[in-house]
Amino acid sequence: MRILFCASEAVPYAKTGGLADVAGALPKALAKGGAEVMLALPKYKQVGFQVEERIALGENDFLTVGESPVEAIEGVKVLFIHQDEFYLRDSFYGYPDDGLRFTLFNKAVLSFVKKLNWKPDVIHCNDWQTGLIPVYLNTMLREDPFYKGIATIFTIHNLAYQGNFPYELLNIAGLPPELFRFDKLEFWGQVSFMKGGIVFSDLITTVSPRYAEEIQTPQFGAGMEGALSYRKDKLRGILNGIDYEVWNPAKDEFLPVPYDGSSLERKKENKKFLQKEVSLPQRDVPLIGMVSRLASQKGFDILLSAMDVLFEKDLQMVILGVGEKEIEERLKEMSLKYPDKLKVVIRFDERLSHLIYGGSDIFLMPSLYEPCGLGQMIAMRYGTIPVLREVGGLADSGEEFNHHKNEGNVFFFKEYSPQALCGAVEKALEVYGNKEAWRSVQLNCLKKDFSWDASAKKYLEVYKEALELKRKEEK
Ligand code: ADP
Repeated sequence: MRILFCASEAVPYAKTGGLADVAGALPKALAKGGAEVMLALPKYKQVGFQVEERIALGENDFLTVGESPVEAIEGVKVLFIHQDEFYLRDSFYGYPDDGLRFTLFNKAVLSFVKKLNWKPDVIHCNDWQTGLIPVYLNTMLREDPFYKGIATIFTIHNLAYQGNFPYELLNIAGLPPELFRFDKLEFWGQVSFMKGGIVFSDLITTVSPRYAEEIQTPQFGAGMEGALSYRKDKLRGILNGIDYEVWNPAKDEFLPVPYDGSSLERKKENKKFLQKEVSLPQRDVPLIGMVSRLASQKGFDILLSAMDVLFEKDLQMVILGVGEKEIEERLKEMSLKYPDKLKVVIRFDERLSHLIYGGSDIFLMPSLYEPCGLGQMIAMRYGTIPVLREVGGLADSGEEFNHHKNEGNVFFFKEYSPQALCGAVEKALEVYGNKEAWRSVQLNCLKKDFSWDASAKKYLEVYKEALELKRKEEK
């Protein structure tokens, strides 16, 4: 099977969050399983290599850009879409012309596969930045023989980012005005990339079974619940995996003392190193870690309200993240109030993230909503016990620890409140106080399999199903 995987970020080239982890790992896993995979990405400033080869598209083509496919990651070809004026910027997103930037990306991807005469069986689109690809295929390109029979999958990694733009986007994208309807691209008076993906793809997936249910409700649907419920028989939830080569405590080059399940006591050395690294006192107290975008989605409001109560206890916390200025400011203020207990590091730092996963005892994710979440899986792989709000993919990642049966691997709280958060931390601390029980939770975490192989198989099933649907539809 030939798969074209389209995303706006992918490890190791460009990353702001979990999408990049998925787009870096899933194509590799699919290739390992025998599929022929091409990954398409914008060529941002941050993609740090020179372009050696450029292929120009002809005058009459859909669009003119250059590209450079390189054999980059284990059997996956990477197609970089160049448009220096649009992609060579300091950030990947957040510009007034984002609509145009990603329209161009979508068009360029479709043009290039034709130019290269590389016809995929399936195009796997991810999040709003690729939402127009299924739209083009099912409207303007519908009669083009090259594109006939290509099935599209649209994966929602986070429904809150929708790519909604003023009506003019239709003109910019060269799409017909008939598409400006509530059951097509129109969304509250705007043109929505996300809605395009939801309405026009053959199958929709999202990154956990629980989130697939949640997004059909007004509470989690971000206004798209109607469109999603309407297509619910085409909606699947597949839990993400994590890259077991990148995230491996036994071979982690960032950890001063690598370890595995038989040498868990070595975690202590990494904890000391982490404490030194972030200038926390090197004391033997529970250390809670967080690695997270500083976005309101991630539960910082309840965490900040809980901190005065949390820091009455003898514990430490280290938070690594960048994002919303207000959250950054409030966290910094707190760290000044509790200098021996709380360290806040405001930057994106791959190395420090590894140290936190490896060196912390507890990993906290108090999210308001969480499509999948990778931090909790990475933490479990490192024997670092998650304290999680029981929502979305967090709910699907583990089971509450049961002290009597020694079963389970996480500590959950349900209600979105500072009190509930403190309650779950307290549950964890109580077990932490019992060395043997804590070791059981750690070993239960290490037993979980979050490698991509299982999820990749599920995606292959979805691809086959989508192809089947496409065949029937075109008959
Ligand atoms: P989201 O995609 O919503 O940001 P996920 O939990 O799915 O959340 O994925 C977050 C990923 O980004 C994890 O791999 C996490 O380690 C990483 N990450 C987030 N913030 C930082 C940071 N400041 N420095 C390094 N890695 C980070």
